[in-house]
Amino acid sequence: MADPTQRTPTNSARGPRRTALLNQKGGVGKTTTSCNLAAAIGEEDRRVLAIDLDPQAHLSLHLGVDGETVGTTVYDLLVDPAADIEDAMVQVRENLWLIPASVDLAAAESELAGQADRNDLLRRRLESILDRFDYVILDCPPSLGLLTLNALAAVDEVIVPMQAHFLALQGVGKLLETVRLVAAQVNPGLRVGGIALCMHETQSTHGKEVVAELDSFLSEATGSGLPWDGATVLRPAIRRNIKLAEAPSFGQSIFDYAPWCPGAIDYRKLAQRFIASWEKGTEVPPADESPTGGTPGVSTVDGDSPSSAPTSDPVAVRPTDQP
Ligand code: ADP
Ligand code: MG
Repeated sequence: MADPTQRTPTNSARGPRRTALLNQKGGVGKTTTSCNLAAAIGEEDRRVLAIDLDPQAHLSLHLGVDGETVGTTVYDLLVDPAADIEDAMVQVRENLWLIPASVDLAAAESELAGQADRNDLLRRRLESILDRFDYVILDCPPSLGLLTLNALAAVDEVIVPMQAHFLALQGVGKLLETVRLVAAQVNPGLRVGGIALCMHETQSTHGKEVVAELDSFLSEATGSGLPWDGATVLRPAIRRNIKLAEAPSFGQSIFDYAPWCPGAIDYRKLAQRFIASWEKGTEVPPADESPTGGTPGVSTVDGDSPSSAPTSDPVAVRPTDQP
């Protein structure tokens, strides 16, 4: 398989797009999105580093790695200055590397409690290897402790996975405000890239109402300079699909397990648009008629109300220098 040192990155000038999947709530789709977004970007021939920052190590298991048996994990990188990041990167697919977690990561917080630079450890650890990757995806634990602070210090942007429920809607404003406060401490340049809707019920009226509320909430921030100024509800929403829940138990991404199920189709499109919004500039990914797809640039969350199209969703494609 390819060695990440053997290719020029797509975005060498500005480094990779570094994204943390964050929501203090558990069970909202952080890990499923981290795994399948990372895998989908890899399938689009970009080099991806996925980092598991949750002591539950679900991202590692989802990608088929048992953090308890590999040599070096993210815990070692945080607590042991002698640990080598080269040993921590496991190649799990073509174009996809993982820094796994293990259960001892839960102890990192107390072990590092007295250390002045404890929120910035991961960022500094990653510096030496960033230029080998096009995208870095971090899966956060469902809390705002030291591990999440390290994630937020190490990325450019946060994506918030959530379900389109009224109660989740209530929480999102608070979560974004927390991101703002945390960003002020550890990473003033941190942005909220968007909200990823997971386990979406495309036919539910309630879901549609919540999405409309989210769209208007985010658009109100336009021009505000807040970290979520410019954030959008990412398209397409990821439909509820049992295959997405089954794949982790086989240590497989959705593209290994069921590459043409609705969940795979949704994550593939999400990744294409995620790539396009970063690598601005050439052509548009092909349009299609599926319920969650629609025409890029005019897509709706579930394809049936073009009037709610996000105007700020950039449409672009592969850089011309892509090998
Ligand atoms: P988090 O990391 O936020 O705790 P997960 O990604 O682990 O959330 O998702 C919680 C549960 O929901 C998991 O069992 C996962 O397999 C399942 N799940 C996530 N997304 C979907 C989806 N679109 N359709 C069906 N099940 C899903
Ligand atoms: Mg998780």
